[in-house]
Amino acid sequence: MTKRVILMKYGELILKGANKYVFEDLLLKNIKKRLSPLERYEVRVMQSTVYITPEEDSLTEDAFERLKTVFGVASMCIAYQADKTLDDILRVVRENIVPELEGVKSFKADARRSDKSFPLTSPELSAEAGGAVLSLRPDIKVDLYHPEVTLMVEVRDRAAYVHAATQKGAGGMPYTSSGKALLLLSGGIDSPVAGYMMARRGAQIEALHFESYPYTSERALEKVMKLGRQLCRYTDTMNVTVINLTEMQLEIKKKCNEEYFTIILRRFMMRLANIIAAQRGCLALVTGESLAQVASQTMPALAVTDSVAEIPVLRPLIGMDKNDIVEIARHIDTFDTSILPYEDCCTVFTPRHPKLRPDEQKVRAEEQKLDSDRLISEALATLREEKLACDRNF
Ligand code: ATP
Ligand code: MG
Repeated sequence: MTKRVILMKYGELILKGANKYVFEDLLLKNIKKRLSPLERYEVRVMQSTVYITPEEDSLTEDAFERLKTVFGVASMCIAYQADKTLDDILRVVRENIVPELEGVKSFKADARRSDKSFPLTSPELSAEAGGAVLSLRPDIKVDLYHPEVTLMVEVRDRAAYVHAATQKGAGGMPYTSSGKALLLLSGGIDSPVAGYMMARRGAQIEALHFESYPYTSERALEKVMKLGRQLCRYTDTMNVTVINLTEMQLEIKKKCNEEYFTIILRRFMMRLANIIAAQRGCLALVTGESLAQVASQTMPALAVTDSVAEIPVLRPLIGMDKNDIVEIARHIDTFDTSILPYEDCCTVFTPRHPKLRPDEQKVRAEEQKLDSDRLISEALATLREEKLACDRNF
């Protein structure tokens, strides 16, 4: 039986200079962590490609599935390994690749040799490999510009690798390579997507959720935890801090002008997030606003919210349309969870006419009616933490 190997090619980290090895080490660590349930497998790196071989060939598909959510990878495939001879390469093309081309109408062959001592040039090897396919499948067309499938033959230092089903990897930078960030995670569609996007850029994600129990249900909290566990398909684990804001909300509702309720609450969320971020060593906050989506997401409202943040607030969705966000939510599988009808913030607390252009002076004047320090320490007294792990065994 022909040996199979998973090949993973680096994404952007290929562009890194002197500290490339730091990113490389992290990528390998993340790959090994993801594969740890498989026990025995071999991992090697050469020329910006990671080669992974499970000891038992039957585990290759399982390993491949797990690795699809490892960030820092541009493309990946399951390749057949051949000896570095033309005969063996063509044998693999005929025995292993041709059966994979069933139903395929057009292809091209593309050979590369990084081992220049291999006796054929790349164009010659491409022609041979293409010819081997055509000898068994005379009906299939060669299409150099828009082939349905590209048959790759790579002659590398130890062996040749032949494959015909390259897929995109998870992209981005290796997880945890960019420092920690605190994700304000609600039960909505947007914030899980925002968390995914920053995780994909290498930010290690800690989550903070504000609940309004008993005005919101236990199922609302369970939904947030489920979203967190779904994000763990990318991050492996995630710490979630939960803070109850009910007392604070009741107090704001009692004392402040209704129009300012949302913006004042947001500013308290930011103040609490500052504290949790400092405790957890997070260098930025991550939230899921998209400009103009709702009243609290206008530029003036964002400015008044951010003026109490003590660290940068990263908003990866700020320039995206809802449709684009939904597409990503579906891609990462959080969409169906997010649309479950358990609200994270009760309508009791939602003003009918929120201020679209809140004035910071007026917001501060409203806040003067509250004992902010007491509200913050009471909220902190409700803090609980949970460590989440991935919700599926891939
Ligand atoms: P989402 O779909 O993420 O809930 P949204 O469109 O409902 O966002 P808002 O309610 O204005 O928007 O919230 C903006 C951002 O504030 C959210 O994306 C999230 O990062 C944060 N946020 C809102 N509510 C909570 C909450 N209960 N706990 C933690 N963070 C929250
Ligand atoms: Mg929401």
